[in-house]
Amino acid sequence: MKQAALNYHREAKPGKLSVEITKPADTQQDLSLAYSPGVAEPVKEIMADSQLAYDYTIKGNLVAVVTNGTATLGLGNTGALASKPVMEGKALLFKRFANIDSFDIEIDETDVDKFVEIVTKIAPTFGGINLEDIAAPACFEIEQKLIEALDIPVFHDDQHGTAIICVAALLNALQIQNKALADAKIVCVGAGAAGIAILNLLLESGAQHDNILLLDSKGVVHSGRDDLNVYKQAFAVETDKRTLTDAMQAADVFLGLSVANLLTAEMLLSMAARPVVLAMANPDPEVLPEAALAIRDDIIIGTGRSDYPNQVNNVLGFPYIFRAALDCRAKEINSEMKLACVEALRNLAKEPVSQQVLDAYGLRELSFGKDYILPKPTDSRLLQQLPPAIIQAAKASGVAREVLGTTTERFYSAES
Ligand code: NAP
Ligand code: MG
Repeated sequence: MKQAALNYHREAKPGKLSVEITKPADTQQDLSLAYSPGVAEPVKEIMADSQLAYDYTIKGNLVAVVTNGTATLGLGNTGALASKPVMEGKALLFKRFANIDSFDIEIDETDVDKFVEIVTKIAPTFGGINLEDIAAPACFEIEQKLIEALDIPVFHDDQHGTAIICVAALLNALQIQNKALADAKIVCVGAGAAGIAILNLLLESGAQHDNILLLDSKGVVHSGRDDLNVYKQAFAVETDKRTLTDAMQAADVFLGLSVANLLTAEMLLSMAARPVVLAMANPDPEVLPEAALAIRDDIIIGTGRSDYPNQVNNVLGFPYIFRAALDCRAKEINSEMKLACVEALRNLAKEPVSQQVLDAYGLRELSFGKDYILPKPTDSRLLQQLPPAIIQAAKASGVAREVLGTTTERFYSAES
């Protein structure tokens, strides 16, 4: 794997992306339109009406993938430069799945206010900002400040992308297990970017605050602790439970956004009947599916891994969320849009699986059930079904600036 990955990145041209020209640039006439003197005309139009940047430049289909490299993949603080292969990879996924162009921007700055200022200053170039792999808790503050400062969508995928896919997976799994979210006792281990965002979206989906127990590396987040940041404090409850073993007693749901191999057989056996376990630590989950299913067979289990069923994979979300946000020139990506994405994902998982998907995974049969709670990433219906549902929610909630039925078709074409 190591050599294959290095060769993949180095062979032919180094890296994974390049810039291409989309207009004729052959004759003297072409060049005088593309650059001086013709280029002055769109400049004057945009000076008079800034929204025309969407008509005369690539702004409307261009996303910045922005990081400071403080939480790169599962590798930790790699610094800005070493995170570049990951950001180029994210850009590759934007293009491959939703035909969105993006520039990866690695910023060598860890101070929150300075980072926010840099991103604010480069924002005119872009139609949206995808924050990536920025460590918690700084990521929460950076995102909030940028949302306030900018009138284009700002979205930290490690928080909200993960939350959307995880909530869709959980709601479908609970449906199969014949349980209601409002009654479900939920244990979430991991109070970082992903864990906090998931719990917030679950609350918006109808989970009950008092049914949630959050744990970090020190154990249960309870109201007697004095070492909690404000994001953890919001989930602190009065309880005498202190350890993961205590917390897992009679739980309906386990959400793992922490580290490998935390769940023991004893903990799994102490859960309620028909539990749901989403063990999402990457690359090694809090418990492996074969280990969990050997202990009890009434579990539905998902992980972050592609080599097991029920992969909770962010690529099911962010390309389509940005596709939608760009196509309706959304001012922001709000809760209504996130929840619409959750619903659209849930619905697609219940439709018959296409031959295209079966072939891609070498499967003969696949249908909604305990081994198929989410659509597969290569399902081309994601692009057909998710953006329209998300745009609908943006319109209904008043954040869509202009609904351009035609841009969607324009940008969806050929390559996607
Ligand atoms: P993060 O911001 O660094 O948060 C990690 C959290 O895990 C922290 O709250 C940390 O506790 C806690 N933790 C660490 N060791 C622990 C232990 N032994 N027991 C209990 N809690 C422990 O990271 P993140 O971005 O939220 O990601 C967390 C994990 O989820 C990573 O493995 C990541 O790869 C995975 N993830 C998966 C997906 C996916 O499958 N689609 C998406 C996003 C993230 P403290 O707060 O006390 O430090
Ligand atoms: Mg990431």
